[in-house]
Amino acid sequence: MKVHEYQAKEIFEQAGIPVPREVVCATPAECAAAARAIGLPVVIKAQVLVGGRGKAGGVKRVEKQEQVEAAAGQILGMDIKGLRVEKVLVAECADIAKEYYVGIIVDRVGRKPVLMASAAGGVEIEQVARETPEKIVKVEIDPAAGLLGFQGRNVGMALFDGDAKLARSFAGIAARLYRVFASRDCSLIEINPLVRLGDGSLLALDAKVNFDDNALFRHPDNEAMRDRAAEEPKEVEAKEAGLSYIKLEGNVGCVVNGAGLAMATMDLIKRYGGEPANFLDVGGSSSPDKMVTAMRIILSDPNVKAILVNIFGGITRCDDIATGLLAAKKQADIRVPVVARLTGTNAEPARALLEGTDVTPAATMAEAVKKAVELAGGGK
Ligand code: GDP
Ligand code: MN
Repeated sequence: MKVHEYQAKEIFEQAGIPVPREVVCATPAECAAAARAIGLPVVIKAQVLVGGRGKAGGVKRVEKQEQVEAAAGQILGMDIKGLRVEKVLVAECADIAKEYYVGIIVDRVGRKPVLMASAAGGVEIEQVARETPEKIVKVEIDPAAGLLGFQGRNVGMALFDGDAKLARSFAGIAARLYRVFASRDCSLIEINPLVRLGDGSLLALDAKVNFDDNALFRHPDNEAMRDRAAEEPKEVEAKEAGLSYIKLEGNVGCVVNGAGLAMATMDLIKRYGGEPANFLDVGGSSSPDKMVTAMRIILSDPNVKAILVNIFGGITRCDDIATGLLAAKKQADIRVPVVARLTGTNAEPARALLEGTDVTPAATMAEAVKKAVELAGGGK
């Protein structure tokens, strides 16, 4: 579960991590009042649950009070990666000497949290990891002992070229960051950029906190921060219909039953040179209604150029899937080709239902995937 930057900063502030003075606002008028209280210049930042807002035009520096409302008006209502900006953060503008990265994630191979830091901050850490991995300092955290003082200081010394004073204040921030990470069951916590100001102090300019969904049951405090309206609307609609849906970047829409088969299907799409547009598990029990919802969600993604239905019927009945598919076709104009591979329970009646329609049948999973990738134009 993701929270907004302003919520993450509230958590940071309670934990004693230094953050800029800032106010979350929903209208240009509120922004103007906030800027007046904070003092110019300010930075106005879109609050959406995706990264890369800066590049998308969602972070603007404003010099003069009379420019605040117009700048806020441009960002509020903006679309960033399919998400509408409903709120912005008005923050005091920091005098940045240098930007750094610091974060804690779970290393699944090492089965431990890892503190990562880099002097190449501000840019996406995935890019740093890919292009210049030597610029990332890492230290494993023993969950029984927590982050030890010397570990934080060592990372700080590496980050600040042996400046002991900065290393100590970095270690303080890292320790607080880990305390939040452990006590609130985070799956990721990140400051990018952590900045060194002109006066030598450190400040968390951006904040990202993801909570582990599997631990939400013991964290009403985490659950209370959820902003349903800001989550990927299709993912929310899917959840309500009992489907697991994750939007991806490719063009082959997938309707599959079972998470394992869905993963295998996505692997095979990549193997044949395609890119999946989504992960979608219609779940165990089937009903034609679920299928209608699934098709509607997939079709609302303009990237989708072909749909692959891959069902291994057990509890899920293939004829329910076929009926749902036909109902979906009746309700909406399905503008892309559909390939269906239905096997298992009631596969025969399902095939009979689809005969004579424009749904392309496939006997095996490989055949179905190959056809779907081809019909989508060979991936990407
Ligand atoms: P992101 O693009 O979603 O990661 O948003 P960030 O909050 O990280 O802001 C992107 C970039 O904008 C930062 O890396 C900074 O370079 C710049 N920026 C953000 N806030 C300030 C600020 O207060 N002062 C200055 N000078 N630059 C800022
Ligand atoms: Mn950032």
